[in-house]
Amino acid sequence: MKSDKPLYIFNSLSRKKELFQPINPPHVGMYVCGPTVYGDAHLGHARPAITFDILFRWLLSKAYKVRYVRNITDVGHLENDADEGEDKIAKKARLEQLEPMEVVQYFTIRYHDNMKKLNIKAPSIEPHASGHIIDQIEMVEKIMKSGYAYEANGSVYFDVKKYHQDTGKYGILSGRVLEDLLSQTRQLDGQDEKKNSVDFALWKKAAPEHIMRWNSPWSVGFPGWHMECSAMSTKYLGEEFDIHGGGMDLLFPHHESEIAQSQAACGQQPAKYWVHNNMITINGQKMGKSLGNFITLDEFFTGKHELLEKAYSPMTIRFFILQAHYRSTVDFSNEALQAAEKGYQRLMNAVLLLDKLVPSSQSSINFEPLMKQCFEAMDDDLNTPIALAHLFEISKKINAIHSGKETISEADKNTLSAFLHHVVFEVLGLVAEENSGDEKDHKTAKVIDQILNIRQEAKKNKDYQTADMLRDILQQSGVKIKDTKDGAEWTLE
Ligand code: ZN
Repeated sequence: MKSDKPLYIFNSLSRKKELFQPINPPHVGMYVCGPTVYGDAHLGHARPAITFDILFRWLLSKAYKVRYVRNITDVGHLENDADEGEDKIAKKARLEQLEPMEVVQYFTIRYHDNMKKLNIKAPSIEPHASGHIIDQIEMVEKIMKSGYAYEANGSVYFDVKKYHQDTGKYGILSGRVLEDLLSQTRQLDGQDEKKNSVDFALWKKAAPEHIMRWNSPWSVGFPGWHMECSAMSTKYLGEEFDIHGGGMDLLFPHHESEIAQSQAACGQQPAKYWVHNNMITINGQKMGKSLGNFITLDEFFTGKHELLEKAYSPMTIRFFILQAHYRSTVDFSNEALQAAEKGYQRLMNAVLLLDKLVPSSQSSINFEPLMKQCFEAMDDDLNTPIALAHLFEISKKINAIHSGKETISEADKNTLSAFLHHVVFEVLGLVAEENSGDEKDHKTAKVIDQILNIRQEAKKNKDYQTADMLRDILQQSGVKIKDTKDGAEWTLE
């Protein structure tokens, strides 16, 4: 089962929804900026991971062959996203007296563990910045050759002013105006190595205390933060690929710089579609590690945080994020999470209930339009809240069939069941949680069905003693049995 309609996706580059047409169908290349692994993943990290997991799953369901690259930043990301200061990983390593790679390994494993709990599919390739230093150096050399970079005291900077004068392209993604940036940013104090305050580092000479360092033609140092994504996306997806994703907070300067680097090194923009998810806010402010107002995913799962009234399961978190469109902000609150928990359970109950329904000879409901609208919502810029609204409409009707107000035929039941399993489990990536009531209910239902089958068999063999005994056992356990011409139905008292 798949949607054969075209997908429209909002492109940050054109600032409008565009028809998605891959460069080389059925292949799709997608690059997404991954985490800087110096701390535990928080709710703000779950948002891009889930957003691009949904895009990945939706593209796969449309039979595209997707190469999804999501990197691990383990070097070059300095404090405050700046060109000066300490490397985030190295700082953590210094404070904990560890090797930087011990910090990287520890938090990468924990990140993967969190992603698995949220049922996020692993990307096709997960390159580390530190494993691609040579590729980054080679790209800096290309930019030097094209004349858009200069060396100063062993460091290399991108010449933004010259690039913009020649191409007119600085700001095409973020809409920032170079003249404004130049007038707004601080004046250079004469000590600065940069020609202009807007220039950004491609390579930095390492200060003596800087422990993460590599040889290069310019100095022993380390790459600038924006270099890794340009080098690794080019290496694995080519000079031009389909989708580049990330959080909206990366749009400037990170993605704007990536475009400038690729344009300077390869003569073209790297990605056809730039897709950005919006932020998670807490009291109206962006939730972020650098802002110190974050709640980690583990804290959500265990409920151990002063702002949390209780623990929230991974699927509640996933559902909470899916309830908003990826380009809207989502404000954290306990009320919203509890509503998401109820919504998730309501949907799961309906999906499991459908399989238990006794079909009739005819359907009183036509599910076709709702199923179609659900696919249309996904094709309309991944509108998960609208898709969920249609799924809730379907759930309501399943409950109406269960209570005898409506009917469903065997064929319609099978079609609807296949559709729900596809959309709920494959596309939205929800799972029935093991310790949730739903899962227990599901298992209990299976056991009861089995016992009733044995009872039916006994009746057929005129072994009424066994049949009655089984009925009594079930009734003593609170299972009410009603014999119908289609077999026995049961409800829990
Ligand atoms: Zn990046």
